[in-house]
Amino acid sequence: METGISYFGNRILNHLATDLEDISTHGCTFVVHSLSEEDMQIYGATMRDIVHTTQASGLQAWLEPLGVGGVFSGEAFSLYAARFPNHQQVFSTGARVPAICPNWPDFRDFMRMWVDAALETGTNVLLWNVPRFATPRQFPWYRGPSNAWACRCAACQYLYRQRFGEEIPTVYDSSVRLFRQEQMLEFLAEVTGYAASQGATNALCLLPFEEHRGDVPWRAAASLPGVHIFGTYPAWLNTNMTPEECFGQKTARVVELCRFLGKQSLIWVQGFAIPTGREKEVATAIEIIAANRIDNVVVKGYDGYKHVSSIASERPDVVWDTVGRVYRQARRGSLSKTR
Ligand SMILES: [Zn+2]
Repeated sequence: METGISYFGNRILNHLATDLEDISTHGCTFVVHSLSEEDMQIYGATMRDIVHTTQASGLQAWLEPLGVGGVFSGEAFSLYAARFPNHQQVFSTGARVPAICPNWPDFRDFMRMWVDAALETGTNVLLWNVPRFATPRQFPWYRGPSNAWACRCAACQYLYRQRFGEEIPTVYDSSVRLFRQEQMLEFLAEVTGYAASQGATNALCLLPFEEHRGDVPWRAAASLPGVHIFGTYPAWLNTNMTPEECFGQKTARVVELCRFLGKQSLIWVQGFAIPTGREKEVATAIEIIAANRIDNVVVKGYDGYKHVSSIASERPDVVWDTVGRVYRQARRGSLSKTR
């Protein structure tokens, strides 16, 4: 099992070198670096150095489009969404939100530029992390109805009428769900297909919904020819489930799907905002993932997110020590042998 950690917020190479030593001693084999819109615009050559420095230290360097367009998950804002308000997503209430609708062709062109920028760094893998239509929960300032959904922008209105021969409803129904699924799949097919044609390895991570509830059907998305690694992000702390229940169920579903399709598997584990006393649940999650023979596990993120005050773990050192202990055991193979 390859063992990863996500890392962002530092672009100073000598500090990175120190952190990479720390990351290696914690049993990691790869680092998921962010390539946000800010990174594309401000840190182009620096990002090449960051990827090269990571690889020179014996680790794989993956890149994720952190917060790009507001379509992908992550702690970064989108200048693109601010620059092109006419292409922003529109909630069912009519409210515009600062996230681009992936149905606009211009944004798909922009994502090709992101792929080009990512591959210029010499990265090993592109991680397409939790692409989704916007929800009210993403915007703390939003005061409208909590069941508002996206998207009813001009592009979606046009495409929905082309597909169904009628105006897109304001109430979420099965046709809206199908439309969103088809459009997100088409977007992912396009961006991962382009990246694969340029030689990239693509990893896709979707929310841990079942196929009949989620925005993107797992099997259809994992089947895309440009997707080589597929997985999910079981955020058990947001549920009433124990880590055993949550990771047991979701990991088993990812494993059976990836075996069926002949793809590599991936599971994210939350390593930020961990309350005091619950650090051992992170270890439990990684142990379950190892026992189920997942190919790639990645913890979000480095050092218990000590440097990210809004979502730092209460005892980040304990979280990071826990990750290191279990990762080293997983690398030795002692976890899977004991189960
Ligand atoms: Zn739209």
